Amino acid sequence: MKAIAVLPGKPNSIHIRDVPDPPMSPEHVLVQTIRVGLCGTDADIARGEYGQAPPGDEYLVLGHENFGVVLETGSQVTEFAKGDFVVSTVRRPCGSCYNCEHGESDFCTTGKYTERGIMRRHGFMSERYSEVPLYMNKIAPQVAPVGVLLEPMSVVEKGIDQAFRIQRRVHWEPAQVAVLGAGPVGILAAAILRNQDLPCVVVGREESGGFQSQIVEMIGGEYFSVGDSSVCELGKKYKQIDLIVEATGSPRVAFDAMQILSPNGALCLLSVTGGHIDQSEPIAVINQDLVLRNNVVFGSVNANVRHFRMGAQHFVEIEQKWPGALARLITNKLPMTAYQDWFDRKIKGIKTTLEFAGDAASGEVAA
Ligand code: BGC
Repeated sequence: MKAIAVLPGKPNSIHIRDVPDPPMSPEHVLVQTIRVGLCGTDADIARGEYGQAPPGDEYLVLGHENFGVVLETGSQVTEFAKGDFVVSTVRRPCGSCYNCEHGESDFCTTGKYTERGIMRRHGFMSERYSEVPLYMNKIAPQVAPVGVLLEPMSVVEKGIDQAFRIQRRVHWEPAQVAVLGAGPVGILAAAILRNQDLPCVVVGREESGGFQSQIVEMIGGEYFSVGDSSVCELGKKYKQIDLIVEATGSPRVAFDAMQILSPNGALCLLSVTGGHIDQSEPIAVINQDLVLRNNVVFGSVNANVRHFRMGAQHFVEIEQKWPGALARLITNKLPMTAYQDWFDRKIKGIKTTLEFAGDAASGEVAA
């Protein structure tokens, strides 16, 4: 079968290749890939800056934002049936740390975890893949069109869940939350927060009235354009910001965000920022503010199956409240053979997907 792969560490090595059919056993589910989403991590891997091949292979099948339909189930599988829409998790346990052994490989302490399409395990950019039910999630047919967004959604679910858990340290009633970044992750974060009825402002560089701001307004959020200015501008308009979710991909913004938190507020950092950037920061001011305001700044990566389940449920609720809003995030659906257009940055828009199945199993039509 056909797959999109890279030679990790080698820039511009992305290619289509024939790979063996996925392994099946009585415990496995065989899935037809419908579409796979593209994100900054895929771009980092294609540039040779991140990612590792599975032991014994020189190549890595790319793709972690997956969506597919069950083709076949092994004789011992009871949880899934042919025709179910499914999304699989990304990370697999290291096999030795406490968290991995207790279903929280997203908190792995050894770093020896594997991630499908990223670290030492083949991903989902192939015509079919197999998986065990433990790492699979069902997608209700009415939200199949946004199923491919469940992986980024799970990352945001985890970050927001962590924020609320951490904030149990004190009596905390957030009155205003801010999301920095109006890409897929930022808008998904806003949707989760709006679904909890929290007043939410999304900060983006694009002008107000544009595509991103329309989606934000559809879900009852507010859009704040900072253009090329610092997000510190936000602090001038909003005197109280209790929770900030950072999703811009810019380390500079993370440090600016620390300076606009309210007393007892929390800042959740979600951007995986590669490369090396050295810049001077007002470290005395930042430190003083964090201390005097009892602020919490924390990072959050990946997600476990619990966050995928939360995301799948929230998709249904969000679709009921604001029909079609999240589907607007998927702006470009390319045939899988056209992957190079995205990696060459020829495609604009919010979320681009690669389509692996024909119309027959597109997931577009509610069953
Ligand atoms: C993925 C996560 C992964 C992280 C680091 C992100 O793009 O969404 O699942 O843990 O990259 O590899």
